[in-house]
Amino acid sequence: MMKIKKLNDFKFKGKIAIIRVDFNVPLDKELIITDSTRIDLGIKSVKYILENGGKCVVMSHLGRPKGNGYERKFSLENILDYLSYKLNRKVSLVKNYFDDKFKIDKYLKDSEVVLLENLRFYSEEKENDNNFSQKLASFGDIYVNDAFGTCHRKHASTYGIVNYIKNHCIGELIENEIININKVLHENKRPFTAVLGGAKVSDKINIIEKLIPIVDNIIIGGAMANTFIKSNGGNIGNSLFEKNNLDVAITLQKKALVNNVQIFLPNDFICSKSFEDFNTKVFDSNNIPKEYSSFDIGDQSIKLFKKVILNSKKIIWNGPMGVFEIDNFSKGTYEICNFIAESTKNGAFSLVGGGDSVASVKKNNKQKEISFISTGGGALIEYLSNETLPSLKLLKS
Ligand code: AMP
Repeated sequence: MMKIKKLNDFKFKGKIAIIRVDFNVPLDKELIITDSTRIDLGIKSVKYILENGGKCVVMSHLGRPKGNGYERKFSLENILDYLSYKLNRKVSLVKNYFDDKFKIDKYLKDSEVVLLENLRFYSEEKENDNNFSQKLASFGDIYVNDAFGTCHRKHASTYGIVNYIKNHCIGELIENEIININKVLHENKRPFTAVLGGAKVSDKINIIEKLIPIVDNIIIGGAMANTFIKSNGGNIGNSLFEKNNLDVAITLQKKALVNNVQIFLPNDFICSKSFEDFNTKVFDSNNIPKEYSSFDIGDQSIKLFKKVILNSKKIIWNGPMGVFEIDNFSKGTYEICNFIAESTKNGAFSLVGGGDSVASVKKNNKQKEISFISTGGGALIEYLSNETLPSLKLLKS
């Protein structure tokens, strides 16, 4: 199997790069960008290609359009000015490019950077349609994939396209993701602690299984913890849990025991009758009255998790400790974020990924205090589980 190529394996002078980026930035009601991180990071490869004398055809998705044509709120028009400003040059937005008669040349004559309108306006993108893949491939000489967050999806622009273009490589963003994820997986720093949260065990079974042989501790918070506590016979009241995964939770705990991995579950929870009810009470995590649900970890759990995190030399965090979107239930998640930042200051290597965890790092203004913030959610989890992703695998061939 060949090695995956990088930008510096190619000479871009006089060449056209067709580059898949993830410019899927959040927009407010007025369609103004509220967080430009994804563009700021993804633009580095575009700049590299331009600086080396190449031209770029840039493609991305934005939001979740229906897949049957133009929708104003998901149009890449919304990011065009920002992109031009950051690149300090004109960027042309092209529409209706999936048409037999369409030719990219005239747009590239006018500008060195051409932005294709939202890929997901075409249902063919998600369907990994051969004709669509071929059309996209025809726009460039070298395909660059720099959209880490979508590399776990087999879409035309991340997957099918590779079959139609011989020269292909990853961009700087993906290269950086791989370097940092490998650091957390393979650098010999101990103790290694994984902090997992969110609602669904089902999404994270594979990563827990993969982590068990390599970590020392697994901290579990959020509604995921409820499934584990219930599987151990605890009384979780009306809290959210996954009935179908009670057995899985038992098996994972047995595996952890055999591998000498300590699983830390919350010992108390902030509870109320619904998450609209701010009449909160703290209960022992094994004894929640039947009309109450847990919505955040309590102070005792925070104290317990703090000790483990501050004692760690490698930390990976994915998933909130509670319903952090609501202020009354956000303390656990923010405190975890603070402890990871503190541990990083003391020399630990920390990696945070997943929309919710990254959002809480940003809200807490701790971006600079975390060693690496991944742009992947699902992609990060899948990479951690399999040490590759479908699109990256294809780029090796
Ligand atoms: P996931 O998609 O599995 O990462 O779950 C993220 C979601 O889990 C967030 O929207 C949280 O609000 C939610 N969540 C975290 N803890 C709880 C909890 N104890 N009860 C209900 N939802 C929760």
